[in-house]
Amino acid sequence: MSTSWLDITDDAAFDAYTLPYGVFSANGEEHRVGVAVGDHVLDLAPLAAVSAVDGAHVFAQPSLNPFMALGPDAWRAVRGWVTELVTEEPNRDLVEPHLIPLTRATMHQPFVVADYVDFYSSQAHAENMGKIFRPDSPALPPAWRHLPIGYHGRAGTVVVSGSDVVRPSGLRTMGDGVEYGPSTRLDIEPEVGFVVGTGSQLGSPVSVAEFTDHVFGLVLVNDWSARDIQKFEAMPLGPFLGKSFATSLSPWVVPLAALEHARIDPPTRDPAPAAYLRDAEPWGLDLRLEVEWNGTVVSRPAFADMYWTPAQQLAHLTANGASVRTGDLYASGTVSGPGVDQRGSFIELTWNGTEPVTLDDGSTRAFLEDGDTVTIRAEAPGPNGTRLKLGAVTGTIVPAPSRH
Ligand code: MN
Repeated sequence: MSTSWLDITDDAAFDAYTLPYGVFSANGEEHRVGVAVGDHVLDLAPLAAVSAVDGAHVFAQPSLNPFMALGPDAWRAVRGWVTELVTEEPNRDLVEPHLIPLTRATMHQPFVVADYVDFYSSQAHAENMGKIFRPDSPALPPAWRHLPIGYHGRAGTVVVSGSDVVRPSGLRTMGDGVEYGPSTRLDIEPEVGFVVGTGSQLGSPVSVAEFTDHVFGLVLVNDWSARDIQKFEAMPLGPFLGKSFATSLSPWVVPLAALEHARIDPPTRDPAPAAYLRDAEPWGLDLRLEVEWNGTVVSRPAFADMYWTPAQQLAHLTANGASVRTGDLYASGTVSGPGVDQRGSFIELTWNGTEPVTLDDGSTRAFLEDGDTVTIRAEAPGPNGTRLKLGAVTGTIVPAPSRH
């Protein structure tokens, strides 16, 4: 772990190694790029201006897109520079005036989302959903072990952590009929989202090995899902209004470079994937997620169990020649594990509402009620046996608007 001259306690939001990037404002000033260190935001724009950093103007922008578009060499150089700022004591007088307490910073959407793709790469999640939705068919769809199944979602309704989520309405079966109304089976999906920094050429697939040339970092994602709307609409074309009303992101983008110590071999794939999906490098990630429902931790899914890696997902989503752009977001799919206490979504955790969970306040839940708050956190192995906090994504359900 980097030793910092900042006084960073164990319960601080971040350490001096993870160094995630976000967009913040304070004191009514412009939105701009910062790095989280301890319980502070490091205000990069003024520091870059006096430090003669290449491309310093990107930090005065209200999104990470211009910085991410500079590419891997710039990402590496900036991370090295920021590490020096927060670990080398002689930089203290320069840096201290540009540290803003997180409690005084307002966090904004960290990047402009270009396209949004959502995958379905947890075997436990796919099997659970198969058993619940299609009990008379094999749990895994036929293509599942051959490719990372996914769909194109809605970029324009991706919101930053802390944004309220309005209960969606839609058509769903009620008794013997079909009615339009507020979802009664509102759910979450804890996921890890990968953020594309540099794009690719239309017509040219991105290989598994080119993952780090394109992907800047990751965020935590809550892919809110209305199971009743989803169930009625999704055959045969897949998720539409049951998913597109809101997707929440953590405000801090963790650079891939901070996760070198979290890399692990993914599970064995059987059958062996097609050549374009074969991976030589271990790009599974040993991330531990935690799902908190109104203050009660109800699930601890392990990202290490994911069958398909983010490098394979990027290779797959470009395998037909589709290009990616700066700001593209692709999410892993619900992270679930084989254990009951690892089930990521509430439809799995409560087995379609038949096994309600009891929260610490004594109340029981099957699906989300108005006023409920869900927070997803994650951590990962860091250098020298340390644990890195990767931030959190939170959101509260507000009632569907009255139609009258
Ligand atoms: Mn999802």
